[in-house]
Amino acid sequence: MSIKLEAVTYTYGIGSPFEKKALYPLDLEIKEGDFIGIIGHTGSGKSTLVQLLNGLIQPTGGRVGIDGTDISQKQEAARKAKRKVGMVFQYPEYQLFEETIAEDIAFGPKNMGLTGPALQARVKEAMMFVGMDYEQYKDRSPFRLSGGQMRRVAIAGVIAMAPKYLILDEPSAGLDPVGRREIFAQIRALHQEKGVTVILISHNMEDIAAMANRLLVLKQGNVILDGNPLDIFSSQRSLLQGAGVAVPPITELLHYLKHRGLAVGERVHTVEE
Ligand code: ADP
Repeated sequence: MSIKLEAVTYTYGIGSPFEKKALYPLDLEIKEGDFIGIIGHTGSGKSTLVQLLNGLIQPTGGRVGIDGTDISQKQEAARKAKRKVGMVFQYPEYQLFEETIAEDIAFGPKNMGLTGPALQARVKEAMMFVGMDYEQYKDRSPFRLSGGQMRRVAIAGVIAMAPKYLILDEPSAGLDPVGRREIFAQIRALHQEKGVTVILISHNMEDIAAMANRLLVLKQGNVILDGNPLDIFSSQRSLLQGAGVAVPPITELLHYLKHRGLAVGERVHTVEE
């Protein structure tokens, strides 16, 4: 089971004076259980790529398949397949709109046909997952929360749809260090405890090093590097620099991981800067 891109390309504004190739032919398979990090300079194609993964935009060339279903078709099967991919946009709190927190989180699963106790259980579980007590928060307005808490509600809304694949675009942007750590603990738990496949766009190399088992580096619409994050961070520094990505020295990254008590692969202990 996987999300598979075959010769996928994307061009904005075809035929217009503003035509812009955003993604060059790309073959990519994201396997169930992966934790993929995506990095690249602004404009390198990260958002375009992730929007193709869940059918938010249709490729201008090639095919996208989710668990074997071609999602370009206008059939029920394609619709169902797309629902397996959840997306947390940048600053997701701007998309909150219901009067209460529970209603906001229930919106997605309700649209998927969940009702009654099953719906309530789903909302409760999602809230618990992001560390919000159901009874305490369910009837409160999402708009009276702090920024970090609003972000949690927004993420709970996506988790409540029980996605098999979860895309997160800079989920910690604008949060303080505590809020950032909390969000990342939740994402790690989703991956490790629930087996959710995660695709994470981030500018934070420490977070990528701590969580991703595979890293994609984008430059001008091409995936120029694809591999183990720490291997790439240690051995591809000039290519990373050329792609406009700032990576802390590997010793700092390792120190950070150790400080947070995170496991570092055997191989990595031998890496010297
Ligand atoms: P990133 O997420 O890495 O910042 P994007 O995928 O947003 O990159 O953008 C890739 C390229 O496509 C950039 O050159 C950007 O200017 C262009 N682009 C993005 N969105 C649009 C759009 N709606 N119309 C035209 N060009 C766009």
